[in-house]
Amino acid sequence: MTKRIFRSITFAALAVLLAAVTLILGVVYSYFTNVQFDQLRVETALAAHAVANEGLSYFDTLDDTMDCRITWIAADGTVLYDNRSDTVAMENHLAREEVIEALSSGYGHSARYSDTLLEQYIYAAEKLPDGTILRLSNSQPSAVHLLMDNLWPVLLIVGCAIVLSLWLANRLSRQIVRPLNELHLDAPLENHSYPEIRPLLQRLDSQQEQLRHQGRELTRRQTEFSTATRALPEGLVLLNTSGTILSINPAAARLLEVTPNCTGADFSVANRNTAISALVDTAYTGKKAEQMVSLCGSTYMAAARPIQAEGNLSGVVLLLLDLTQKQKAEALRREFTANVSHELKTPLHAISGYAELLKSGLVPPEDTKAFSEKIYWEAQRLVALVEDILRLSRLDEGAADMQWKSVDLAAVVQQTAASLSGAAELAEVTLQLSGEEAVLQSVPQLLSAIVFNLMDNAIKYNRRRGTVMVSTETDSSTVHLTVTDTGIGIPEEAQSRIFERFYRVDKSRSKEVGGTGLGLSIVKHACQILQAELAVDSTPEQGTSVTVIFPKNSKAAQ
Ligand code: ADP
Repeated sequence: MTKRIFRSITFAALAVLLAAVTLILGVVYSYFTNVQFDQLRVETALAAHAVANEGLSYFDTLDDTMDCRITWIAADGTVLYDNRSDTVAMENHLAREEVIEALSSGYGHSARYSDTLLEQYIYAAEKLPDGTILRLSNSQPSAVHLLMDNLWPVLLIVGCAIVLSLWLANRLSRQIVRPLNELHLDAPLENHSYPEIRPLLQRLDSQQEQLRHQGRELTRRQTEFSTATRALPEGLVLLNTSGTILSINPAAARLLEVTPNCTGADFSVANRNTAISALVDTAYTGKKAEQMVSLCGSTYMAAARPIQAEGNLSGVVLLLLDLTQKQKAEALRREFTANVSHELKTPLHAISGYAELLKSGLVPPEDTKAFSEKIYWEAQRLVALVEDILRLSRLDEGAADMQWKSVDLAAVVQQTAASLSGAAELAEVTLQLSGEEAVLQSVPQLLSAIVFNLMDNAIKYNRRRGTVMVSTETDSSTVHLTVTDTGIGIPEEAQSRIFERFYRVDKSRSKEVGGTGLGLSIVKHACQILQAELAVDSTPEQGTSVTVIFPKNSKAAQ
C-alpha cells in the first residue's frame, strides 16, 4: 500500500511539475513574444520616421550586422529595399498579412514561418505618409529553442523538483500508512485514526463480536456434548471424512484401549480392533454396519453409521452398546420361566394324580377326605405361588403406581402377628413383639410384604416351642426392623443365595411348610424400592436374625 501511495503521489507531483513547466513556458513565451512585438513596433515607428525623412539614403546608415530585417515595400507591393535579400528576386509583398493591415490601418503585425528565411519571424509594418510600407521583422526563437537555450537552469529546477517530490511522496505515503499500520485490531473501536475508516472499524468490531459469540456458543455446545458423552456408559466415537477422531468419550477410549486424549489422531492408527475397523470402513462406503464384538471381556454391539449432510458423507459415528446386562436379564428371564414352569408342574401333577385316583374310584371312602385335603393343600400352594409370582412381577415393573404414605411399622408388625398367630400356634412358636411407634414414609403394601415374609419364614423355619422376636426401633433418620428366630438357621454358604428366586436351602422342608421360594426375593425387591438396607445374621441350629433399616424419609418418596 505504501508503494502504491508513493507511486500515486510521485506520479501526481510529476504531472503537476510537467504541467507547471509547460504552463510557465507558455506564459513566458507569450510574454516574450509580446515584448518582442512591442519593441519591434517602436523600432518600426522610429525607422519609418527616419525613412520618411531621409528616403533610401537612410538605409545606407544602417549597420550590416544588425539582427533586424528591414524591408521597404512600395504601395503596389514591390519590394524597394531589403537588407537581407535581393529585392529583384523577391516576390510581391502586397499579400503579406501585416502589409495588408498596415495599408488599411497604418500599422500591422504578424508572426509566421518565413519561407524565404526558413525561420519563425515576427513582422511589424507601418505605412509611411507617401503610401509606402516599412516593415521590420525579427526572428523569433521557438519554445523549444527557448527551452534549449535555458536547458541547464530548467534541468536543475526540474531535477530539484523531482527530488523534492520523491522525498515528499515517500514521507507522505509513510505518514498516511502509519496510522493504518498502528491500528489496534483486537479493539477496533478504540482506534482514533482516519474518520473515513470508522465504518470499516465498526464493521470489524461487529464481526469480531459475532465471532466471539459464535466461539462462546461453540465452546458451550462442545462442553455440553462432552459432558453428556463423558457420562455415557456406551462408547461413542465421531470421525470426520478423512478418518480423524473428532470426539471420543471415556467409555469408548477404555473399550478400544486407546488414550482418552487421542482426539485429532487417525482412527485406523489408534484403533487395533480389526472387527471395528472393518465396520468403520463399511460405514465410509455409505452403508450402516453393526456386529457383536467382545471388548474388555464383555459383549458389545458395535454400530458404525455414516453421517450424511446434504447428500454427502460428512463423517462416521461409532456406537458401542453393552449387551452384558441385557444378556444377563434375558438369561434370568429364561431361568425364571423355567423355574416357574417347574414349580407349577409339581403341584399340578400332584393334584391331577389325586383327582385321577378319586375319579377312578380306587380310593377307599375312608381315605377320600385325606385325598381331598391333599388336593386342597396343593391347590393352596399353587395359589400362593401364583400370588408370589404376580407380586414379584409387579415389583419388577417398578411399583410406580404405589402410594407413599406415613406408616407406623409397629402397627404393621402387630397386624402381621395377628394374621400369623394361627400359623405360629400350629407350629408351636411364640411371637414376641417389642418396640414403640415407628412412623416412616413408605408404601404400605411393600412394608407389609417385608414384615409378613420375614415373620412367616421365622415361624416356618423354627423349631417346636421356639420363639420369634420382632422389634422396631427408631432414631432421627431411620427405622429398624429386626426379626429374630430360634430356628434351624441358614448355612453360611447359602446365606448369600437365599434372596435368589426359587432358591431354597432345603427344598422338601420348604415345600412341607408351604414355601414358594419367592418370599425373600420379594423382601429384597421391596427393600430396593423403599431404599432400605437388608442384613442377615444366621447360625445353623441356633437361629436367624434379619434386620431391615428403613429411611424415615426415603428420597424415592419425594
Ligand atoms: P420359601 O418360600 O421357601 O420360604 P424364601 O425366599 O422365603 O422362600 O426363603 C428362601 C429360603 O431361605 C428358604 O427356603 C429357607 O431355606 C431359607 N430361609 C429363609 N428364612 C429362613 C429362616 N428364618 N430360617 C432358616 N432358613 C430360612
